[in-house]
Amino acid sequence: MTPARTRLAPSPTGFIHIGTLRTALFDYFLAKQTGGQFVLRIEDTDQSRLVEGSLENLLETFKSVGIEPDEGPVLQDDGSTIEKGEYGPYVQSKRLDIYKPYVEKLIEQGDAYQCFCTKERLDEMREKQRATKQTPKYDRKCCALTAEEVKAKIDAGESYVVRMKVPEGETIFEDIVRNSVKFQNLDVDDQVILKSDGFPTYHLAVVVDDALMKISHIVRGEEWLSSTPKHIMLYKMLGFEMPTFAHVPLLLNPDKTKLSKRQGDVAVEDYLKKGYLVEALLNFIGTLGFNPTGDREIYSFDELVEMFDLSKVKKSGAVMNIEKLDWMNNQYLKKMEAKDLIEVAKPFVSIDLENETVGRALIIERDRINRLDELQEKLEPYVAEFAYDSELLIWKKADAADAKAQLEGVKKFVETLEDAAFVNVEALEREVRAYIESNDLQNGNVLWPLRVALSGAAKSASPFELLWVFGKEKGIEKIDKAIGLLA
Ligand code: GLU
Repeated sequence: MTPARTRLAPSPTGFIHIGTLRTALFDYFLAKQTGGQFVLRIEDTDQSRLVEGSLENLLETFKSVGIEPDEGPVLQDDGSTIEKGEYGPYVQSKRLDIYKPYVEKLIEQGDAYQCFCTKERLDEMREKQRATKQTPKYDRKCCALTAEEVKAKIDAGESYVVRMKVPEGETIFEDIVRNSVKFQNLDVDDQVILKSDGFPTYHLAVVVDDALMKISHIVRGEEWLSSTPKHIMLYKMLGFEMPTFAHVPLLLNPDKTKLSKRQGDVAVEDYLKKGYLVEALLNFIGTLGFNPTGDREIYSFDELVEMFDLSKVKKSGAVMNIEKLDWMNNQYLKKMEAKDLIEVAKPFVSIDLENETVGRALIIERDRINRLDELQEKLEPYVAEFAYDSELLIWKKADAADAKAQLEGVKKFVETLEDAAFVNVEALEREVRAYIESNDLQNGNVLWPLRVALSGAAKSASPFELLWVFGKEKGIEKIDKAIGLLA
């Protein structure tokens, strides 16, 4: 396969949308799979939308999810940014001089023209069009101006924009996700390509940059599909080689509306802050609307790079199912090496994770959480005294006297246990079960009060797990306390 050059071209709006991360992943998979490059380009030509510090924030987020562009701005350790790659600058506001000759070329060819219409005139025109049910689009008044008239207006200091002149006919293109796409040029507006402030619009800048940066595949959200015919016309007018397009479907809320802040988190940072693991998040986002095999959900990052196939991306919108993400995160949490788990858990808990008891509790409790921000609450009972009602110690088929007798019995038994019994949960469980059986006791009568004595809660880890975490000495202490409550 020829190496693909892909790009992510975000506008610096302050955070990375989860949909942008998905596009980035698809771009990244495709580039890496083919031995190509993934380029990051910052599209900041809309100066009114700029947010202070957003480039740094964007690069920071990419860094925290481990996606490093091959070309583009790079964040350095001291917080400053540099650029790598031979096609830079990769920030559009630093490329203004690059766009101008292309605008001139288009004007010279008759493919673009200056437009001096005022905002008032344009508003009035659109109003009329709307009233007569026409598609609002520029009526080409200025297209009729002669070269002399244009020059006179410019010399007189009149403000103007440059518009592309949409040709007649239709625009047809092949999109990897959406197959053949057709637009009637009549429906396409004479798009402004150069604004009165001298900045190019997105449409011109994106085409010039993608062409000059030799981008082979343009993978982007479906919301850009209606812009593509304009881009295709510009490619043709400027004699650029046409790239391959792929418009990936939108991400949706569970109610199938467009993913919105109102119904949940949309920023990648929010997910990381809640304690979703990077690996799980990448697995989840990288398979939204695309499943390589269809027979499982868990894929490593390397597998996704290897198996990614744009033509298998679904056409319909992909629902952000948070329950699935929770499940996936839990799967990843369960499989983590203890030392790695401690590292990722640290920012989420104020408890010392290097403590032996806590270390064991972490191994047990990680199976019961979906996100790391649930951990603090789960670990607290292992390090702090917990209060509970003595009633809770009594199993539904027993009474207080029985609960007390059982706890006394189990305490004596625990006292006899050797260190070897605590080697792991399974060994301990075998011992406790053997004790129950050999003494002809009932599981519920013994295990319920034991579990409550060790957890103080109606629902918790199993008594074997809890006893293993606390160890012999602390375990006996807790059982003793429970006996005291029943006295
Ligand atoms: N600057 C556009 C954005 O904010 C890029 C669209 C594209 O990928 O062409 O998403």
